[in-house]
Amino acid sequence: MQNQSSIHAIHEMLHMQSALNKMTNGAEWRSGLTQLGKVIDWKRCIYMEAAELIDSYPWKHWKNITATTDMENVRIELVDIWHFLLSLTLETLEISKAAILLDEAFISNSEQVSIVHCDMPIIKQVLVHETLMRIALESGEVSEGYLTRLAKSFVNACQVAELSFEQMYQIYMAKNVLNKFRQDHGYKEGTYIKEWNGKEDNIVMFEIIATMTDFSGDQLYLSLKENYRLINGS
Ligand code: MG
Ligand code: MG
Repeated sequence: MQNQSSIHAIHEMLHMQSALNKMTNGAEWRSGLTQLGKVIDWKRCIYMEAAELIDSYPWKHWKNITATTDMENVRIELVDIWHFLLSLTLETLEISKAAILLDEAFISNSEQVSIVHCDMPIIKQVLVHETLMRIALESGEVSEGYLTRLAKSFVNACQVAELSFEQMYQIYMAKNVLNKFRQDHGYKEGTYIKEWNGKEDNIVMFEIIATMTDFSGDQLYLSLKENYRLINGS
């Protein structure tokens, strides 16, 4: 990981995740139940996303054996996992403790950079992701020790996919901006248009980000608005 992790950025994301969880699952989401009484299982969320991640690799020995890894999607699935890792940590710890624990996982792993990288054989990469999955599948108490192990295995997975902390932060923030944009433009009401001239909105979003020298959430929102106005004529 080239960029230093920043406790400030982690704090910001924890706050955003907390707000998102409150909005979607109710104020008491940390109790483990949504406002409709449905069980929340963040560990299951993590290992199911890990399965999606692994499925972005051509691991199947009987199918499409010349296929290559969809690394772009691996990184997106990692950010999905990050949403749930933030949530699990927040369910267990108070926010400033959560930030320190997650930050330390990034710091302690940054010395191992040279060990793992994209040139690793595919099957070895998959094994690293399976370690994350295996930890998420463990039953038992979610202690600080457990969260640390889980967070470190997540950081290892990021290193294998060459997803820097900075990139992860950008994708996390961008997803948040897009969610807000969708809500502000009739997502719940069913009037939102998701296909923009034959492209899905999140693809357009990644194209906008690629043109930015410095990421800015406000700038992204404005650009989304301009593009949306062009396609729906309002
Ligand atoms: Mg099948
Ligand atoms: Mg996913």
